[in-house]
Amino acid sequence: MLLGGIEAGGTKMVCALGDENGNLKERVSIPTREPEKCVPEMIDYFRGRGIQALGLATFGPADLNKNSPLYGHILKTPKPGWEGYDFAGAFRKELGVPVGFDTDVNGAILGEVTWGAAKGCSSAIYITVGTGIGVGVYVNGGLLHGLMHPEAGHILLARHPDDTAFAGGCPFHRNCAEGLAAGRAIELRWGQKGAALSDRKEVWELESYYLGQAIADYICTYSPEKIILWGGVMHQPQMFDLVREKTLEFLSGYFTQKQFTPEGMKDYITAPALGDNPGIMGALKLAAMQLAQEEN
Ligand code: ADP
Ligand code: ZN
Repeated sequence: MLLGGIEAGGTKMVCALGDENGNLKERVSIPTREPEKCVPEMIDYFRGRGIQALGLATFGPADLNKNSPLYGHILKTPKPGWEGYDFAGAFRKELGVPVGFDTDVNGAILGEVTWGAAKGCSSAIYITVGTGIGVGVYVNGGLLHGLMHPEAGHILLARHPDDTAFAGGCPFHRNCAEGLAAGRAIELRWGQKGAALSDRKEVWELESYYLGQAIADYICTYSPEKIILWGGVMHQPQMFDLVREKTLEFLSGYFTQKQFTPEGMKDYITAPALGDNPGIMGALKLAAMQLAQEEN
């Protein structure tokens, strides 16, 4: 069965063809611009290819409530032209196939739960620490939507006592995880991009202090069986062990399962098994799920 998948990001739109078993047959990358400019290009890529359904895993915020008149739309966003745009509807109308719609990070956790490092888990989360921080949440065998969708990058954290001067990088919250620890926050605080700060030990100590705190909160609230951690900032090789260590410190011995030991943590907090593809593979799964739903 041929399916289409889209991972829609702030800089690029990854469009791919694949199947319900997660086999990617081809992919292209289209630069993100205003919807009137890039969506027709994306539609042209899929048109006439014979896909039976499309999965769209997008940047947010997005309306995922199937009973809402704005289902499939992008909500309030500073991205030029995108606010209020009927993203899923554009493809449905032009391609005439079922369109599965969810957030980019929900797509990524769906890919990892279906084929990757969280395979077999009934609850797991995917955290990306990139320009911002996003969290995809899969609980009790399904993606978490709720009133909107989780925005767990914006949870409020306790400041490190030595980090009181930095204003934070989030325009909404002074002390949220994204504002304190995303790639953009690192650049604002230290005046250089993360990749140029590799040998500055204090940068990664502070970074893991915030990520460890956030992850401890996610463990307490979502009760995940697996935590997939990725995004540009996690390309710092020392970060995984630092984050695991700090997470345990913040949990302070409260949980006793084997995951919450230094050895268990190595397997519990892990990079994606699908490399750079969890999002786009999750989009294929979204397509397959939507097709199955509309066939019933
Ligand atoms: P995006 O979140 O924009 O989709 P990425 O996940 O690639 O994209 O994240 C980009 C962010 O990661 C930028 O803030 C960048 O400075 C940071 N970054 C990229 N590589 C590294 C690295 N090796 N070490 C630390 N930070 C990095
Ligand atoms: Zn925030």
